[in-house]
Amino acid sequence: MLNFSVAKFGGTSVANHEAMTACANIVIADPDTRVVVLSASAGVTNLLVALANGQSSEERIRLLSEIRQIQENILSQLKDESQVRSEIEKILAHIAQLAEQATTNSTEELSDALISQGEMMSSLLFVQVLKELNVDAQWVDVRTVVATDSHFGKAMPNDEQTQIQSDALLAPLVQQGKLIVTQGFIGRDPQGRTTTLGRGGSDYSAALLAEVLKAKNVLIWTDVAGIYTTDPRIVPTAWRIDSMSFSEAAEMATFGAKVLHPSTLLPAVRSNLPVYVGSSKDPQAGGTWVTREPQQRPQFRAVALRRDQTLLTLSNPSMVHAQGFLAQIFQTIADHKISVDMVITSEASVALTLDKTGSASSGTELLSTELLAQLNEIAQVKVDTGLSLVTLIGNELHKSEGVVKTIFDTLESYSIRMISYGASTNSICMLVNSNQANAVVNTLHKNLFE
Ligand code: ADP
Ligand code: ASP
Ligand code: MG
Repeated sequence: MLNFSVAKFGGTSVANHEAMTACANIVIADPDTRVVVLSASAGVTNLLVALANGQSSEERIRLLSEIRQIQENILSQLKDESQVRSEIEKILAHIAQLAEQATTNSTEELSDALISQGEMMSSLLFVQVLKELNVDAQWVDVRTVVATDSHFGKAMPNDEQTQIQSDALLAPLVQQGKLIVTQGFIGRDPQGRTTTLGRGGSDYSAALLAEVLKAKNVLIWTDVAGIYTTDPRIVPTAWRIDSMSFSEAAEMATFGAKVLHPSTLLPAVRSNLPVYVGSSKDPQAGGTWVTREPQQRPQFRAVALRRDQTLLTLSNPSMVHAQGFLAQIFQTIADHKISVDMVITSEASVALTLDKTGSASSGTELLSTELLAQLNEIAQVKVDTGLSLVTLIGNELHKSEGVVKTIFDTLESYSIRMISYGASTNSICMLVNSNQANAVVNTLHKNLFE
């Protein structure tokens, strides 16, 4: 194993010149960081998504000028913008052209071509920021390395092909001692078309690159000083977990802890790659190490929240003692490339939630009229929205007595729409009304963690 790290800086960490300079100083202070993976500057991906969905010419002009302003703010702080200005202008012109196309023919392929441009700009600007601090870095187009399938908006990396391309193009540069700056979130399909890995996918890119390069670890620099017992924006008294296991972090990410993209842990677990999470604004504040063997495995580890859940209840009286009803439902949903999350069955009905983290970068609605029509042929369908999933994450939750009583006592004044307990020994999920979600998270945290 080579002795170097892959560092990823998220959107707020590269939001402006000052934030980029803080990141550059982190890279400079750690000679082991040889590969830097960047997100788009904060806000840019959302603006690009809006453009990709097709807009009136007035709205397009407004969105384009917002994107331009974010770039201008950084360019204007550079000592010498001339080197990078023309490249940024070219990308802005390309964005304008794709945005116009999106108004007449908005496809997932076009969306990815557009949405990927934020990372292209931030990475070019960051190379110049480093240069002005006397650090020579080599910009790499990550699409020459990360190979994916053609599932636009939620592409799956092709690990073997990525390994081959990394060995041929990236590893030699690292071995020559170059500092690499590249993009997260994006890849290229076998036809050479740009793809994206899904929102928040830069964490996944960083872990994937660390794996193929055989780096010693992945450093995720973000806007919080580690992984907390719950989202510190919801519960200010949440505290940092210094060391946790891959499986705990994977459960947290899966159930909504946005600080890590859920797929980040795949390469980490496969290759036993420690993941560090820390704050780029305050690197001295310390952070969380996610490893195979953490210091402790407490019964209650964290509370995660995932908003915007859709509950489908499908009933069909002839389901009683019938076979194949569930298979039919799941197949229909799978045909639409949607992942089912929670499932509960009763005598003549099945209730299931749909997971929006499985949806495309462009954020298109999960439930299409076509899917609903197909489901209606199998059963009577009821759709509930305005729901959130609150998940308690821990260890051996099934073994200890009184866990469920503790939770129910804690939440006695809230209505819980659905509960899932037993599928995993690491989590208990509760579906609640979104307007009560923050209160439920606060109450659970207060009673179980404080
Ligand atoms: P980046 O742009 O760096 O990828 P994200 O916004 O994707 O950053 O992720 C960081 C955010 O994750 C934090 O600001 C915080 O609000 C949220 N978050 C959710 N759950 C947790 C948690 N358990 N610990 C820390 N942060 C969390
Ligand atoms: N820029 C992308 C997003 O906003 C990817 C990322 O930041 O990880 O989703
Ligand atoms: Mg993120």
